[in-house]
Parts: sequence; C-alpha cells; structure tokens
Amino acid sequence: MRRVFPVFTRKLSHVCSLKPFKETKWLMPNGNPIGAYVYNCVADQKVPVILSDPHIATWYSCGPTVYDSAHLGHASCYVKIDIIQRILKEFFRIKLVTAMGVTDIDDKIIQKAKETKSDFRTVAKQYEHEFWLDMASLNVEKPLIVARVSDHIPAIENFIKKMIDSEVAYVTNDGSVYFDTEKYDSYGKLQKMQDSGEPADTYKKNKMDFALWKGQKPGEPSWTTTWGDGRPGWHIECSAMVSKFFGSQVDFHAGGIDLQFPHHENEEAQSCAFHNTKQWANYWIHIGHLHVKGDNKMSKSLKNTITIPQLLSQHSADTFRMACLMSNYRYPMEYSDELMKTAESVLNKFKFFLKDTYNYVNNNAIENGDYKYQILDSLQKVEEVNLDVLKSDFDTASCVNNLLNLVIKTNRVMKLETKEFYPIPVLLIAEYITSVLMKLGLKLQDVSESIEHNSLIDTLVEFRHIVRQNALGRKDKELLNACDIVRDKMKATKVQINDSEKTPSWVFK
Ligand SMILES: [Zn+2]
Repeated sequence: MRRVFPVFTRKLSHVCSLKPFKETKWLMPNGNPIGAYVYNCVADQKVPVILSDPHIATWYSCGPTVYDSAHLGHASCYVKIDIIQRILKEFFRIKLVTAMGVTDIDDKIIQKAKETKSDFRTVAKQYEHEFWLDMASLNVEKPLIVARVSDHIPAIENFIKKMIDSEVAYVTNDGSVYFDTEKYDSYGKLQKMQDSGEPADTYKKNKMDFALWKGQKPGEPSWTTTWGDGRPGWHIECSAMVSKFFGSQVDFHAGGIDLQFPHHENEEAQSCAFHNTKQWANYWIHIGHLHVKGDNKMSKSLKNTITIPQLLSQHSADTFRMACLMSNYRYPMEYSDELMKTAESVLNKFKFFLKDTYNYVNNNAIENGDYKYQILDSLQKVEEVNLDVLKSDFDTASCVNNLLNLVIKTNRVMKLETKEFYPIPVLLIAEYITSVLMKLGLKLQDVSESIEHNSLIDTLVEFRHIVRQNALGRKDKELLNACDIVRDKMKATKVQINDSEKTPSWVFK
C-alpha cells in the first residue's frame, strides 16, 4: 500500500508558513495534494504540489545542446534536478515519468560541423554520448525518455501547423514561422517582461514574437513542410515533444534559471495556445547558476569552464553531490576550493561515523544497556523533521544539517565511559543515515568496497595506530614522522585516516 501524505498537517503548515495566495496567474491544479510545497515563479511563492494521479507525475527537463563537452555548470544543474527527482520518488513515493529533450540540431552544432568538416549528426552524436557518460559518472539517473529533436520533426511540424491554422502563428516571406505574442494574453507570466534577445527582424509583427520555424538557409540541414523547407526553432522543440509524450499538461518542467526567460516563457505561451488551456506546466523548477568564485557564471563563451572529468580528477562524485545538497537548488552556488573542502569534510563525518558504529558494536561489547532511553527519540524527531524540510521546497541543506546533529548526539553516546553499550539505537541511526544519504544519490562507496580489500587496510591502519600511540608516549619524533609519511601515502591512494579518535578509523576519500 502506498503512503499518501496529507496536505495540511499541523507540522507542515508550521514549516512552510504559507502566505495566502496572491492574485497570480498560477492556477492551482485539481487533484491530489502530496503534502509538498515548491516555489513557483508564476506565483512567486511556494505552492502545494497537486497531482491528478496521487502516485504518478510527469517531469520534463530541458537537456543539452550537444555541440561541446558538458561543464561544471551542467553538472550542478543536472545533479540538483536528479536530487529533487530522487526526493519525489524515494521520500514521497511518486512514480516519476521523466523525459529530457536533447537539442541535436542548432546553429552551434552546424557551426561545429563546419569547423570540423563533419556532418552535424556526427557532432551531435559524439557530444550526446559524452554527456551521458558524464552524467553516469555523477550518478545522475538517465531519464526514462530521451527525446532527440531530429527524431520528432513530424510532431513539431504538426504543432506549428495547428498554430498557423488557428492564426496564433504566421509565415513570413523567408519561409520562417513566428508566434504572434499579441494573440496570447498571458505572455510574460513567468517573470517581468524583458528583452527576449530575439533579433530585430523586419519580418516580425511584434518585437517579442519568436521563431517557431527557421526558413532554409543555403548549405544548412532542412526538412520539408507544407509551408516550406527549414528547421525548427529552439523553443518549439520542447513543447512539441512534451505534448507528444504527456498530452496537454506536464506536472514538472525543469531547467537552469537562464531558461526561465525567454525559453520557458515561450514554451508556456505556445503550448497554452496549442492546447487551448490557461496553464501547461504546473510546476516550474529552475536551478540557480553555478559561479566560479571571483568569476561570473560559468559558460563556454566566458572560457572559464571546468569539464566533468576535470572535476572528478580532483573530487569524488559524492563530494560534488554533497556540495549540491548543502546549497539551495534555487540560488546561485559559488564553486571554490573551500566549498569542496567543506563538502568533503561533511561527507567524511558521515563515513567516519558509519565506520565507528561498526567498530562500536563489534569491539566494545561488555553489557547491553537499556536502549529505550538512549537517543531513539532523537532519531524519531529527525525522521519527522527531515520529511518536513524536504516537503518545504526540497530543503536538502537542512536535512543534511539534521543528520549531522544526530551524528553528534550518537557520538556522545558511543563515547560514554560506562560498562553498558547501546548497539540497537546506534545501529538504527546508522541505518537511517545511510538510507537517507543513499536516497539522495550518494554512493558512500567505501561501505560497499570488497571485504578483503577493507580488512587489509584495517590491518595496516591498526598497526600504524599502535606504533603511533607508542611513539606519542615516548615522544619519538622519528617514528611519528614515519607514521605521518604512511598517512600521506595512504591519502594519495584515497584512503584517509582519522587520527583524532582513540580507536583507529579510515574512509575512502
Ligand atoms: Zn526546453
């Protein structure tokens, strides 16, 4: 039996402190509230997540334009989207039907094909392949549907044709088709109007009108339609593909914050016009930019990109994901050495803790204590509060913080100098922390490494610990120095030893 979360529980309304809804252009969907609240740019506030089916939701993410390698900015966007999707699936028990559009025909791809003297399809294929490898290395789950634009030209043509027929779009002399923004009352509902970046064009009726179809240019790939040859504009792709898979409405629509305007604005406008509805995407999820410290947004044009293999040569995928978890998905994230060090240290606190609980249960056994009075109530409280914070716009930073506090409390119990010990609550807490972190997409790899390998490292670390304790007692500098060398050498092979504890412990970095 699936668990359904009631929407207006006392605790939840306390956490979200919902304001009464303002007069906005966001329309509350009919259906089943799942108990979560998410920020929506149309309402400019958190709104309740309501699904027409209580257990199923549709999710579309705007994917990459495949003309170059993905960089750290893409990594943070798609890791954060992956985290939110996992929360919906793992904590709220929603079956998510995920789709992503891949733009495999575009000016930049054509340009790259010209530069490399290859076919635009070859360029797109190469970089799309690389993109999925990068995503897999970051433990980002692949969408159930991967939709390439060039595979969906008939759906795009049909979409545009219907808009031409209903006169919300018009064909120009050069064979292009534009959306007539004057014919759509709610244009600009996602954010305040600004320059769309659309080129001033003598063929256009209004400045904000945008191209649905680009008339053929010599030497460029094109497809034949009833109004002429050419290729799709960028905005139409997503609307046509989403409509093909999900019908006249999509629950979640995600992408980087830079897509909010004009891309998502245009998607919403043309889709509402096509389906003759007032709301097409119920929940817009926009991921804040990643900035490199002291720099602006990371982008190809600024030539300040770090590729994903470059990132992973310095930090583990778990460390990067922890940095994402510790930040709010909607706001900018400042990438720096300090950020990554903090993320690594938080990750290590969990890893050391999980190792310590194992040692505690196996080594300190003298007499079982009455666990009922020890820290189980803290565990229950954290379980409840964590569910509440995740329901409040996916507040993963608070969730991680609550777990850290639970680690501190449990460490205190494990260090009690009494005959009694409390394996049951300690194990339940370790199990809970492991399950939450893994549900958020961390691999916690050293826990699952091979037992033989681990026991070999255990032996070495224990031996070093005995030698070091002895050397500390005798103030033997030479031996202490040798211990430091062993520690540094092991760190170079990604084994990090924790010297601060009485019992030796280590983790994979
Ligand atoms: Zn899109």
